[in-house]
Amino acid sequence: MTDFHGKTALVLGGSRGIGASIVRRLAADGAKVTFTYAGSREAAEQVAAETGSTAVRTDSADRDAVIARVRDSGPLDILVINSGIAIFGDALEQDADAIDRLFQINVQTPYHAAVEAARQMPDGGRIIVIGSVNGDRMPIPGMASYAVSKSALQGLARGLARDFGPRGITINVVQPGPIDTDANPQDGPMKDLMHSFMAIKRHGRPEEVAGMVAWLAGPEAGFVTGAMHTIDGAFGA
Ligand code: NDP
Repeated sequence: MTDFHGKTALVLGGSRGIGASIVRRLAADGAKVTFTYAGSREAAEQVAAETGSTAVRTDSADRDAVIARVRDSGPLDILVINSGIAIFGDALEQDADAIDRLFQINVQTPYHAAVEAARQMPDGGRIIVIGSVNGDRMPIPGMASYAVSKSALQGLARGLARDFGPRGITINVVQPGPIDTDANPQDGPMKDLMHSFMAIKRHGRPEEVAGMVAWLAGPEAGFVTGAMHTIDGAFGA
């Protein structure tokens, strides 16, 4: 447990899965949390009621809406950029607009959200982006756009760490391997293939990722920035 009393946090994409666990963890540790969602209003309302946090509908595909949301939530002590999507399939067959939407949600909006947050963030603020071990390793076909997007977040953190470092603001990427969520259920058809790459042959739990996020958001991690933090059962090792 980290003491986040008196801290204000915004989580982009907090209605389900890893994002909902991050909301639960930050709120349980005392932070005043606001989170966004796009399609899952009921789930969002449930997480908000359960945790005492605030749910707001803001589509991460809409850059300007997210920038406005970050600006209007500020000054933030903690920004967690979790919303992200994957598109599977033959790269030669995929719709260009759908791929561009993925890049908007997974890369462009995170970049602008991080920059906007840093404008008002107090010294010592924390920005944490949820990337993926697929930013380092993509062992299967059909997910190149996702791999591109998660690799791009590495450059985002390395570069913005230089811009924000003088103010003690850190920016880090958490890179999960397979985590049991709606997007990647533990009992899904890819289970055996994914576990064959791993040393710990199970899906991770969203709470395990939230624990790493909480550490990065806390006072012990003030010297950690521009870095990738992989939590993947050695999927990428
Ligand atoms: P889920 O699909 O289970 O949940 C995604 C969350 O992000 C939901 O709360 C969803 O909200 C929100 N979201 C998605 N699109 C948007 C959008 N356009 N605007 C606002 N919110 C949005 O995904 P996971 O929890 O599995 O994944 C979360 C993050 O972790 C992603 O960035 C993903 O790439 C990454 N990740 C996941 C792994 C896994 O194995 N699960 C592995 C590695 C990385 P709503 O439903 O309301 O739209």
